[in-house]
Amino acid sequence: MTPSTPTVAADPTRLLPNFIGGEWVSSRGTDALEVKDPGTGRVLGQVPLSTPDDVNDAVEAAREAFPGWRATPAVERARVLFRLKALLEDNLEELGRSLSREHGKNLKECIGEVRRGIENVEHACGVPTLMMGDTLEDVASGVDCQTMRQPLGVFAGITPYNFPVMIPLWFWPYAVATGNTFILKPSEQDPLTHHRVVELALEAGLPPGVLNVVHGDKTVSEAILVHPHIQGVSFVGSSSIARLVYTRAAATGKRVQALGGAKNHMIVLPDADLDLSSDAIINSVYGSAGQRCLAGSQVVGVGSAYEEIRDRVVERAGKLKVGYGLDPETFMGPVVSQTHRERVEGFIDAGEKEGAQLLLDGRGYQVEGYPDGHWVGPTVFEGVAPEMSVGREEIFGPVAGMTRADSVEDAIELMHRVEYGNATSIFTTSGRAAREFRYHAGISMIGINIGVAAPMAFFPFGGSRASFYGDLRAQGKDAISFFTDERVVISRW
Ligand code: NAD
Repeated sequence: MTPSTPTVAADPTRLLPNFIGGEWVSSRGTDALEVKDPGTGRVLGQVPLSTPDDVNDAVEAAREAFPGWRATPAVERARVLFRLKALLEDNLEELGRSLSREHGKNLKECIGEVRRGIENVEHACGVPTLMMGDTLEDVASGVDCQTMRQPLGVFAGITPYNFPVMIPLWFWPYAVATGNTFILKPSEQDPLTHHRVVELALEAGLPPGVLNVVHGDKTVSEAILVHPHIQGVSFVGSSSIARLVYTRAAATGKRVQALGGAKNHMIVLPDADLDLSSDAIINSVYGSAGQRCLAGSQVVGVGSAYEEIRDRVVERAGKLKVGYGLDPETFMGPVVSQTHRERVEGFIDAGEKEGAQLLLDGRGYQVEGYPDGHWVGPTVFEGVAPEMSVGREEIFGPVAGMTRADSVEDAIELMHRVEYGNATSIFTTSGRAAREFRYHAGISMIGINIGVAAPMAFFPFGGSRASFYGDLRAQGKDAISFFTDERVVISRW
């Protein structure tokens, strides 16, 4: 295997290069993993397992680039991002197709993901305004006080497989817009499409060393977490690793934002519009085959809403078109890998053993013409309790657990017996009930008659409880605060 010239075309023998100091370079590692199309099992490329020395090289390049980039006026830094935005728009379809092939979700979802990523680039383009400080004259007689935001140096990001284009764009555009330099470790499961994004960033004029990419697995992450010259780490992934990243990176004095897993509850009240609610629930639970941190997982019908919403979910889930992501008819693609398929099916086995009733069983699912795809069909359980693994743990697959509650208070209590706190939704036509829910839910991202409580780039993104470790979230104003230090200057002349 030799490192390739960059291109997004699939080539099973192509070993992805790292990107360090503005050059495509070979990893020093000798091992590699295959990147596979989850719908066909076909090998699309190879991702190197880089070493701590590769991380050192990237940190050196990023440190070298920092003074010049920091001194580049904010408007000029923003112009690079304006050009990147235009290039991403021009390549939207190509990026979407590449993403669908390596992740499995349908083309519409993939284009939607790229678009959400672009919105973060757009938001970061506002850096000359976003980075401004405050001033107050005469804080004492003849003494003025001002704050200014300054970049800190080298930041790093470690990102998951489920949004391999958008999630890196939650971080590095803000880091570089504010004058820092950055090292990204993408997910080793589907790194190909973001590789193309980096090519476009280079074309947009991002100077050498400002953005660096080191491919690999946890060896690369660990080298990042302990590196003395990295100022902060942005992580997105499962909760157990988020907790570990938070602890380890904080122990070496870094800033950390670590976004973890989820078990999102969707609560349907008897006065809800059931057409709207069932549409939203189906899209939330089964979109992207359930592999979203905002996916609905537990559906709680309150009182008389229960039977009706259960029957609608079962009926509609059973008719969903499961297939290859690039097939225009496909609603739901495969899950990312055979290992993940086995994990999801393992949860379904456990749910049955623990006493939940299976109303729709997606195990052993096959799609004609795709014998090697990692298929899991839409699945529905009823009688799911928070004590069961299917009621408590993140499945990250197309599985809905249905539960009845007697009141909104009982539904909230059920939700609080689960350790996660990423997102929740309520379906109701009562403003008062919605307001009460918002007040007491204790969850960070709340949907009211919305199935996927996804805030936009200009609002913060991140959960609470076991879904988030840190203080400042991704996106929004938090991103600017995370990547800058607010310095206070007090002066008398
Ligand atoms: P993961 O935790 O397996 O991996 C995430 C990243 O961490 C990858 O880059 C991986 O290489 C790296 N990693 C793996 N082991 C590590 C270790 N021991 N130390 C340090 N780094 C390590 O997650 P995944 O399977 O790629 O993604 C799915 C998970 O991400 C789900 O739990 C999902 O809920 C979560 N997620 C959360 C959000 C959010 O906003 N809260 C968004 C998307 C995904």
